[in-house]
Amino acid sequence: MTAQPARLLIDGFGRRVSYVRLSVTDRCDFRCSYCMPLDQSFLPKRDVLTLEELALIAGAFIDRGVTRIRLTGGEPLVRRNVMELVRAIGRRLGHGLDELTLTTNGSQLARFADQLFLAGVRRVNVSLDSLDPDRFAAITRRGRLAPVLDGIAAAKAAGLKVKINMVALRGLNEDEILPMLQWCGSQGFDLTFIETMPLGFIEEDRSDRYLPLTQVRRLLDSRFTLQPLAERTGGPARYVRIEETGQKVGFITPLTHNFCESCNRVRVTATGTLFMCLGQEDRVELRDLLRQGGLAALDAALDEAMALKPRGHDFVIERGRAAPAVSRTMSVTGG
Ligand code: SAM
Ligand code: SF4
Repeated sequence: MTAQPARLLIDGFGRRVSYVRLSVTDRCDFRCSYCMPLDQSFLPKRDVLTLEELALIAGAFIDRGVTRIRLTGGEPLVRRNVMELVRAIGRRLGHGLDELTLTTNGSQLARFADQLFLAGVRRVNVSLDSLDPDRFAAITRRGRLAPVLDGIAAAKAAGLKVKINMVALRGLNEDEILPMLQWCGSQGFDLTFIETMPLGFIEEDRSDRYLPLTQVRRLLDSRFTLQPLAERTGGPARYVRIEETGQKVGFITPLTHNFCESCNRVRVTATGTLFMCLGQEDRVELRDLLRQGGLAALDAALDEAMALKPRGHDFVIERGRAAPAVSRTMSVTGG
């Protein structure tokens, strides 16, 4: 841990923001059915922050007491020269920054695992919704399982701690919950289950695929002894230890409200829009401020953002509900 700066980011509800999710691109090589439509259109390149601007924004947050940064997207590893950014932010490790992590679909991990470790990354979250090649292809619609498994193996070999994220999807992968748990156990990976969130328009009605994690937990409860862990990340995850295997398992249940009061995070999109809540529209546009007013304007905008951070989200998944909670997909906000 490094010494804290004098001007921390504290919002109107007294919550300290110490964690930023930074989306480095809205683009992706997959089209996961719950995340984005097949014909998703992507942002014009000129609207997207340069790698230098992304590094400046990360630095501005670190200067205000942010100690953890997660790079995400879209698929962060499809951004050209993304390692320049990882290395630039990585240089702040031990100088304000405690942890730099990444959420990835794993498709490019085999290529980048060693470089990520060298840049100071120690943990990666890899999204993996199925271990069956056909089903994996059906869910991701452009992805292939084998390169992802190779990427995960490369990450492990490089010394990165791997956590697997699995979105629980009714009728699609609910029968893989126990096999996935077993596979993660055999590999030494933690596993986190995620509930689908109503973010952005997709082809299908999300309520058809919504599998409440209370059901997943009941299934695990019927097989194992679950020891609740006190550990909190300031996010919507709750963790248990499976006594029989020693595995740590997380449940991300964003549809419940009980994590908002301890929320410690904000999200920055690849165009520099700072969202104070995944499920609300409150935002501050950082890109033009940075381009026109430089770092001073950026710093002032962070204070403005703190005053705007809402108390919590208003997610609800209901059958037939026409509109998602917010119109932007997770790939735009940065999951
Ligand atoms: N492409 C990377 C990946 O898939 O890990 C990073 C970005 S992705 C948006 C981050 C996480 O959000 C993934 O674990 C994905 O499964 C999850 N996700 C995407 N859309 C979601 C939704 N509507 N509800 C719940 N999780 C979602
Ligand atoms: Fe791409 Fe990740 Fe969305 Fe899948 S979940 S489409 S990998 S951004």
